[in-house]
Amino acid sequence: MTFVITRPCCNDASCVSVCPVNCIHPTPEEPEFATAEMLYIDPETCIDCGACVDACPVDAIFPDDELAEQDEPYLRLNADYYRDHDVEAGVPQLVRAPKLPDDEVHVAVVGAGPAAFYAAEELIRHPSVRVDVFDRLPTPYGLVRAGVAPDHAKTKRVERTFASAARKKNFRYYLGVEVGRDISHDELVDRYHAVLYASGASADKRLGIDGESLPGSVAATDFVAWYNGHPDHADDVYDLSADRAVVIGNGNVALDVAQILLTDPDELAATDVAAHALEALRASSIREVVVLGRRSIADGAYTNSEFLSMGLIDGVDVVIDEADLRLSPRLAKQVADDSVDSTIGSKIRLAREYAENGEGGNRRRVVFRYLTAPTAILGEERVSGVRVVRNVFDSASDRVVPSGESVEIDAGLVIRSIGYRGIAVEGLPFDDDTGVVPNEAGRVLGDDGAPVPGHYVAGWLKRGASGGIGTNRFCGQETAGALVDDVIAGVLPTPGSSREEVPELLAARGVHVVDADGWAAIDRAEREAGRAIGSPRRKIVTIAGLREAAVSAHPSDS
Ligand code: NAP
Repeated sequence: MTFVITRPCCNDASCVSVCPVNCIHPTPEEPEFATAEMLYIDPETCIDCGACVDACPVDAIFPDDELAEQDEPYLRLNADYYRDHDVEAGVPQLVRAPKLPDDEVHVAVVGAGPAAFYAAEELIRHPSVRVDVFDRLPTPYGLVRAGVAPDHAKTKRVERTFASAARKKNFRYYLGVEVGRDISHDELVDRYHAVLYASGASADKRLGIDGESLPGSVAATDFVAWYNGHPDHADDVYDLSADRAVVIGNGNVALDVAQILLTDPDELAATDVAAHALEALRASSIREVVVLGRRSIADGAYTNSEFLSMGLIDGVDVVIDEADLRLSPRLAKQVADDSVDSTIGSKIRLAREYAENGEGGNRRRVVFRYLTAPTAILGEERVSGVRVVRNVFDSASDRVVPSGESVEIDAGLVIRSIGYRGIAVEGLPFDDDTGVVPNEAGRVLGDDGAPVPGHYVAGWLKRGASGGIGTNRFCGQETAGALVDDVIAGVLPTPGSSREEVPELLAARGVHVVDADGWAAIDRAEREAGRAIGSPRRKIVTIAGLREAAVSAHPSDS
């Protein structure tokens, strides 16, 4: 028997270090780890001990004889990885935290998403480090709460890891506090030895084509925030009255969006989807979502596990036209001589299987189109469609280039899902081209290229908007490690005032701080409201409502 890693895998490698036979790869020591879609168990080496099951924060690992039917393809996905990867490689090292001096070190962390938590978790291993976490929302967990699709309940279980870090006595929450508005960057610098920004990448990238700003052309970043109940988007309204939507881009966010648009609302009702979104989706007329990829089936930006899951949506056909299965000449040769990379090979295989299976007669469908790039979003008053050009392979470079063939796809909604982008943070340098803060291993670099003492970044603001939740574990740990090294090297600046002044400063400005008890009260209120309607939580979607729920923890704050 072997254990098998399935869809919720968060890549945080908690399982890797507990495996006694090193059968889970890639390990963080292997170069592939940075780009791996998920982790894989080698069926030949697994000794069936189950240590990984207990360590997995998102309950993604099962023995092969207990796999649910929809998870059976993961047996092959796990095994296929070992067709071209070496199981002997990358033995994980146990890294002990270096000993810090006894003097307290005060760190402000800005943002309360995965990268912030993984960095904070690493820092609070040192009893002398005190971490204060600031987030502009009254709720923690960043994109785990406001980005991960509502039906990915297992993925959200990583919150348990974060909650246990937040219970440590050298961790303090300042939720509902916006750095740059309620307290400035300079005020933090003056009160902490170090400030670590993990505030993410919340803006959307732009296509730069005609019609992009028409009503009905929307950014996936906004749409995702809307169905996840982000307070900034609770009042957004989407017109779902057409029968077709087009999603531009085919990353995991595009697939999440397509899935939400097509899933039976009765199924969504059992998730933590925002109530306003559920109501709108119940009235939706959308029956077809076209997902546009500008490159080939081998280059889908989605992960194989998310692509697989599209075939499991009840009542939805996955449609791929045979004409869209073309590969570049170089790749076609690799497939023919069986030398193609295992992950890419799985992408090709899954797309071909969908194309072969054809339509199943369901009322709703998701159509994956490849080698198809948008050139204009069409419409007068609002969106009526998308003009696309067929791409072909350039024989010299093997890359895609536009052909002369252009067609129009009618659609009442166009969702641009071409990636997230960081936005500049007051007080920090910013690279506008890449949308990240220039840094070296998380140390912020000034205009002279030298580290700015006491300034750090982690997560998407540090490395750009790529990677799943677990990718942030190593990113956050790297930054925390740099900070700890700087403590040991004695290069952190000494703050001019004390972090103990922060509560008073915020109170004087009338800021309603939500602390750990306040968040616990919100969490309780949401779960209780959810229980009443058969969902894990009913999210409170306004800042006022969240504050009100938090106040029940401290009635004197009202
Ligand atoms: P992404 O993975 O970077 O995908 C962006 C997509 O947009 C790609 O298909 C890209 O095509 C396309 N694109 C970019 N510019 C374009 C243009 N001008 N015209 C047409 N297409 C264009 O971004 P994402 O989907 O927003 O995801 C961000 C990160 O979050 C990813 O690492 C993703 O895996 C992660 N995430 C993970 C999950 C999960 O694990 N379930 C869920 C959500 C997000 P090219 O590939 O050709 O550039």
